[in-house]
Amino acid sequence: MLIGVPKEIKAQEYRVGLVPENVRELVARGHEVVVEAGAGNGISASDADYVAAGATITYSAQELFKSTELIVKVKEPQAVERQWLQAGQMLFTYLHLAPDPQQAIDLIDSGATCIAYETVTGKGGLPLLAPMSEVAGRLAVQAGAYFLEKTHGGLGVLLGGIPGVAPGQVTVLGGGVVGLHAIDVALGMGANVTVLDRNIEVLRKLQKQFGHRLHTVCSTAAAIEQHCMMADLVIGAVLIPGASAPKLITHEIVARMKPGSVIVDVAIDQGGCCETSHPTTHDAPTYVVDGVIHYCVANMPGSVPRTSAYALNNATLPYVIALADKGLQALRDDEGLRNGLNIHQGKVTNLPVASALGFAF
Ligand code: NAD
Repeated sequence: MLIGVPKEIKAQEYRVGLVPENVRELVARGHEVVVEAGAGNGISASDADYVAAGATITYSAQELFKSTELIVKVKEPQAVERQWLQAGQMLFTYLHLAPDPQQAIDLIDSGATCIAYETVTGKGGLPLLAPMSEVAGRLAVQAGAYFLEKTHGGLGVLLGGIPGVAPGQVTVLGGGVVGLHAIDVALGMGANVTVLDRNIEVLRKLQKQFGHRLHTVCSTAAAIEQHCMMADLVIGAVLIPGASAPKLITHEIVARMKPGSVIVDVAIDQGGCCETSHPTTHDAPTYVVDGVIHYCVANMPGSVPRTSAYALNNATLPYVIALADKGLQALRDDEGLRNGLNIHQGKVTNLPVASALGFAF
């Protein structure tokens, strides 16, 4: 199959749909890969790296879109790219169509088969969203530790402490994918870590994994208040699937937290789990409310595009291989991949996406 990898054109997007290593895998299986010049710049992969992996380079995004059978991207196609999509072509990328009716209309009009990373399902989860939660969870502690430094406005606490000086207190709200990875890094740094979750099974699993170095607490309003007030760093990592994040940390709690402490509200992409949170960007990631630093970047993995691109590629590769080897048959063979099908032959084919858009299904 002829596979195309365009350079991402959405602002501040540095990841790439296929890293050179994965191009090599596909070429070894007899597929041809065309990569737009400079597509790997954001992850320090040069055109020469892609050529060495067996790709050919094109300088025309339009030609790439018009000539290939499968396009592998990261972000939803932008308006100009949508004009170039072809009927019968397959597009595999993050789409996030629910809040974007114009994109849905353009993709329907294109006649392309559009498979969205975010609705592909796997064993009890969303395998193409999980890698970004892993990155965000780990990054949350790194960002929190940075802003706890006095020179960055924080309390002046070293999370790991030293012999003779107590470590910092980290409170993690939500022990799912983000929470687990935040806990792993915070414990690794030597911090005192408490996780709160409303699902006791989640707490059982975490306790088993991390042992008694981790404090597990059932999430109630009283426990949230107590553990936020004690914390140097609070990480908001809750999710109620399909709903906005619950506002677990009230403004009143923020006002009673330690001045110079830090809230990293990872759940900000679902509205945030703190009443005083609003989305920020990598250019200006923090603001202060009642002396508490708020870090609320909605696209945290974007600051480590190299790690994020490889994490995403590790997860997408088996699906890209299946689509390249078998074409549409790959969707018939794998129910999880089929759940990723959002648009096919001019129709929205995913019920929750169609309902959110108010489109016929
Ligand atoms: P997940 O489903 O794996 O985990 C969520 C956890 O929250 C679950 O264990 C659930 O039991 C728990 N929870 C729900 N309600 C709770 C409550 N009232 N108290 C305590 N715990 C509660 O989700 P995830 O993959 O870890 O993602 C967490 C959030 O991070 C999501 O909103 C996700 O969209 C977001 N996220 C943001 C970024 C970013 O760049 N900002 C990146 C990746 C993920």
